[in-house]
Amino acid sequence: MIATTGKTNLLGLTQPEMEKFFDSIGEKRFRAGQVMKWIHHFGVDDFDAMTNVSKALRDKLKAIAEVRGPEVVSEDISSDGTRKWVVRVESGSCVETVYIPSGKRGTLCVSSQAGCALDCSFCSTGKQGFNSNLTAAEVIGQVWIANKSFGSVPATIDRAITNVVMMGMGEPLLNFDNVISAMQLMMDDLGYGISKRRVTLSTSGVVPMIDELAKHIDVSLALSLHAPNDELRSQLVPINKKYPLAMLLDSCRRYMANLGEKRVLTVEYTLLKDVNDHVDHAREMIELLKDTPCKINLIPFNPFPHSGYERPSNNAIRRFQELLQQAGYNVTVRTTRGEDIDAACGQLVGQVNDRTRRSSRLIAARELNADADSAPNAASAP
Ligand code: SAH
Ligand code: SF4
Repeated sequence: MIATTGKTNLLGLTQPEMEKFFDSIGEKRFRAGQVMKWIHHFGVDDFDAMTNVSKALRDKLKAIAEVRGPEVVSEDISSDGTRKWVVRVESGSCVETVYIPSGKRGTLCVSSQAGCALDCSFCSTGKQGFNSNLTAAEVIGQVWIANKSFGSVPATIDRAITNVVMMGMGEPLLNFDNVISAMQLMMDDLGYGISKRRVTLSTSGVVPMIDELAKHIDVSLALSLHAPNDELRSQLVPINKKYPLAMLLDSCRRYMANLGEKRVLTVEYTLLKDVNDHVDHAREMIELLKDTPCKINLIPFNPFPHSGYERPSNNAIRRFQELLQQAGYNVTVRTTRGEDIDAACGQLVGQVNDRTRRSSRLIAARELNADADSAPNAASAP
């Protein structure tokens, strides 16, 4: 366990919370904006560096507050620019954050929990079980750390992190309040100024929380589907037993309708050889999604030891993609890049790499999921 200091950690405070904090210590509210810019735009954690704050207030802040991100255990940079951080959170567990550059886009894949309780059968994070919820400071702290590594810049000018996907370790909807606060900071101009279209929450399908989400925030939504019928989905994604497909797709449609704009759901589908990659599965999926405007992102399975699953052949992946495309869907296959650090979807286990042993593993680029630049798929509702 990392010792707690008893000080208020300002890193995870949203703007209203920060204003409340300054109110509570008898200071003017505009200090909130000043301090937030120092923290998020310039990556500053030392109050003495906040030069537009008076010495007296800096001393006061030093006594009662801190700016503390999770501890960086390791940072790996792949030859293709992909970066991975392992950070230790307060519970003592480690989680991973991955940065994937692609053209003008830089996507940061952020973790929400250490481990995960939902135990999807093909996910190594799930195999660990649940360890802890990350605090808001630990969620936004991953963005803070990544941003600092590129040299912090104000939110208004070109930056390295253009998109954030909540697709790291954990189920974000089961750490609701902290994830909402962190996503608000991602979008706030006093935070990271990322547009709501470029902040994506991925869920395995916690239906009541999808409805709740709509009341708080309007980020993009990705659904981890992985199977076109309840029988198979319940085997792969056990939470399906509680919230089956009809209910789940209804809630996703409600969420998307609530956004009230031309924004489409992303459907993620991890392809598992001889499990969910048959042409019949593609046909069932075409039928299942016909009333749900969406773009589909196929993720070839990323293997990990003792998973019991295999990645389908490239031919099988292409065949599956083509069938969906022929039915009018916009379908991308998540690309794999880099072979020198281990950061693929579902392989995140919060461990520092043994690079030599793991050099054969590939990095799955998640950027396609957050492709906010691509026009909504006109053909997505066949
Ligand atoms: N818990 C959330 C977000 C984190 S997982 C969710 O399930 O949506 C991010 C994505 O990676 C999900 O679509 C998940 O199903 C997928 N994934 C998990 N394990 C994988 C693996 N071994 N290979 C490929 N994709 C995997
Ligand atoms: Fe949890 Fe997502 Fe992994 Fe399922 S796929 S176990 S919900 S992290």
